[in-house]
Amino acid sequence: MKIAVYPGSFDPVSNGHLDIIERVAKVFDKVYVVVAINQQKHYTFTTDEKVLMLQKVTKHIPNVIIDKSSDLVSLYSQKVKANVIIRGLRNFNDYQDEISLFQFNRSISPDIDTFALFPSANNLFLSSSTIKELVLFNASIEQYVPKEIVQYVTDIIKERHSINK
Ligand code: ADP
Repeated sequence: MKIAVYPGSFDPVSNGHLDIIERVAKVFDKVYVVVAINQQKHYTFTTDEKVLMLQKVTKHIPNVIIDKSSDLVSLYSQKVKANVIIRGLRNFNDYQDEISLFQFNRSISPDIDTFALFPSANNLFLSSSTIKELVLFNASIEQYVPKEIVQYVTDIIKERHSINK
């Protein structure tokens, strides 16, 4: 069975993430989308909120499993018997980070490879921080976030970054 792990912060999940998940789910038998728990980082959404949003926007894809983990990605991948870690490559900054991460993961789990996917054209410049900025400038995020969570994401960002309310 071909199993992929797609880790990230998903703070919040965007159309860019969802596009990657849908494409990977066509190729692999099972895809674990894993919300990374990192106590050192400050996120807008809690881990459980991110998990719920991901479950909501992927419910049409039967071979996707949403999970959370504070383990190293390569160790988590070993645990679920994954063959491949999935990453998105938007630009040169992503490339620089990802190549180090790839070597690091490979040194821990030599049998688990990393596959990088390019975003579809609409999502090339999209990041979770762009979404927060748009909300804080009262711009619409409809084009950038799955429609089921647009209102929720807008409300939470406004509430927790309490400027422009
Ligand atoms: P960000 O880098 O926006 O904080 P994450 O940590 O949640 O996002 O990213 C998880 C993975 O998804 C990373 O491999 C990242 O490169 C990828 N990714 C993020 N945004 C996009 C996008 N718009 N299109 C394709 N891949 C993306």
